[in-house]
Amino acid sequence: MDVSGSAVRAALPGALSHSIPDALSDALAVWAPSDCVGCGRHDRGLCRECAAAFAAETPHSTVRLGETVWCGLDYAGAARRALLAFKDAGRTEAAGALSVPLRGAISAALRAALAADAGAAGIRIVTIPSDPAAAMHRGFHPVNTLLAAAGLRSTALLSHGSAHLDQAGLGREARALNMAGTLRVRGGAGSVAGLRVLVVDDILTTGSTIAEAARALRSAGAEVCGCAVVADTRLRADAHAWSQEVRMNSR
Ligand SMILES: [Zn+2]
Repeated sequence: MDVSGSAVRAALPGALSHSIPDALSDALAVWAPSDCVGCGRHDRGLCRECAAAFAAETPHSTVRLGETVWCGLDYAGAARRALLAFKDAGRTEAAGALSVPLRGAISAALRAALAADAGAAGIRIVTIPSDPAAAMHRGFHPVNTLLAAAGLRSTALLSHGSAHLDQAGLGREARALNMAGTLRVRGGAGSVAGLRVLVVDDILTTGSTIAEAARALRSAGAEVCGCAVVADTRLRADAHAWSQEVRMNSR
């Protein structure tokens, strides 16, 4: 039985089908996923071509708010659509394909850390906890789900400190200011002294979330050996000046 969103729309009376809002159409597609979350072609989950394209990408690094972050993909096109579908529409069947570029970014970050310090062994992966509201809404932690699909796991060191506003809709500077002090290490100051960690997240935009995680970990005594994400947004040419400015303002 074909229960895809388009089939459901086709089965409804004409006048009604024209009035179905996009949100409902999206909801139907989530309920009965049948199109590739990357390119939209009729397929299950993520099509072979999109998965192969993600796997073929070479990780790249970028510096945001002073942190060097290794990224598996550019957050654009099929990668952007697939990540949005995975995170916001619960299309967890894309986790396997999306975990490949994340694993590549993590490997690149670890290689860089080991090149800088050959003794840097036993590095632990640390992810950023979901907002309680987001966790309840999604029912899964996006990054931990991708790590599991990659055969990796994180150590739960961070928790939310002071409440902060939803980052959506905030400008770059406002995001950094909004994040400052919002994460803390569960065990408190000194509890992670000497621990070597790699901060891992899904999508890198301004870098304010990763910078806040790194700040919290360092302030509790951990050594942040690097950062890795699935994908990053491109920054404009003035990004460096901007990031320096935000970093100073957020202190
Ligand atoms: Zn596809």
